Amino acid sequence: MDMNQNNIEAIVRQVLAGMSGAPSAPSSNGELPKTARVAMLTEKEHYEIKEFPLPSIGDDEILVKVEGCGICGTDAHEFKRDPFGLIPVVLGHEGTGKIVKMGKNVKFDSAGKALALGDKVVTCMIFKDNPEITMFDLNKQNVGGADVYGLLPDDDIHFNGWFADYLVIRGGSTVFNVSDLDLYSRILIEPCAVLIHAVERAKTTGILRFNSRVAVQGCGPIGLICIAILRTMGIMHITAIDGNQQRLDFARELGATETVNFTEHTGIEALTNAVERSFGGHGADFAFQCTGSPAAHANIYKFIRNGGGLCELGFFINGGNATINPHFDLCSKEITLVGSWVYTLRDYATTFDFLRSAKRIGLPMEKLITDTFRLEDINEAHRTNLAMTGLKIAIINQ
Ligand SMILES: [Zn+2]
Repeated sequence: MDMNQNNIEAIVRQVLAGMSGAPSAPSSNGELPKTARVAMLTEKEHYEIKEFPLPSIGDDEILVKVEGCGICGTDAHEFKRDPFGLIPVVLGHEGTGKIVKMGKNVKFDSAGKALALGDKVVTCMIFKDNPEITMFDLNKQNVGGADVYGLLPDDDIHFNGWFADYLVIRGGSTVFNVSDLDLYSRILIEPCAVLIHAVERAKTTGILRFNSRVAVQGCGPIGLICIAILRTMGIMHITAIDGNQQRLDFARELGATETVNFTEHTGIEALTNAVERSFGGHGADFAFQCTGSPAAHANIYKFIRNGGGLCELGFFINGGNATINPHFDLCSKEITLVGSWVYTLRDYATTFDFLRSAKRIGLPMEKLITDTFRLEDINEAHRTNLAMTGLKIAIINQ
């Protein structure tokens, strides 16, 4: 990969788009305000904008001026019902911003890249000793103590989530210098990492190859990003399945070669025929299930050929039971099934490469961010997110 060429392309595109692509001048400490805002979820369905003094920064710490942060499904659950019991909390974990102050011990990011004032960064987990651990409950490794900015309870520092003007990154956190990615790409890193992980899980089956016929069921942000990743891998036959024609049209822009609108087909047999027609009369070699619908999980086995594979990643939270026929759906077809949940720290580095590749081949990833709001309008932003009229909703602090 020719890094210089990429950088030049990225800068030219940013300039053409009227965005500031040039590295910003390092801010001296003197320019920092005395106080800054956070959006704190103080009760269900209600954020309050609160102002706190900016804390002093220790030798291992970094102060980041937040540029933007996406709203995640996890934020939506927390906003509505507080299932994680975090209130009062400053949410926002799909964020990015610019280093405005750093302690004297901070020299490199978690990948060994140099860090300097003005660099654009993202964080992953607040625990860097084991690159294999996943994000939330870490049940695979049975280790505790890892956490994520934007899902931390409030404390004396307050600047613990990305829905704020500033974030304090503590020593021992993971942090990545992603200055070569534009703002929207940086906001999409966290959700894209979920799909990088799913594709890595899918690859363990040995079935997913560059000439595979792949079905992607569900064209919300998760399914759409899945399609874009498959496209950057060079996979040429991708059928997107959804009930929303607008999303199916966007799926084509992100790399789907065929689409099936399930509202146009009555019954599982007709739907299966439509999916097979999209592959020239063949079943899918591999399928990704990207909806939270139990019926969709039950259906997807029918679309897969004998000996094919399936990655189920749609059920981030419990969405209920699905009914399948173990004989017809799994055994007699010899389906290889993998589940996927969240991501590992290692998937982050792959995600940066994916986003650069997606840019290079012209996939319009930035169109995934359909609505942007200012920090003070965060309640409205969350209501828009819950209405599900757009794809990814983001808070932009500029
Ligand atoms: Zn998220």
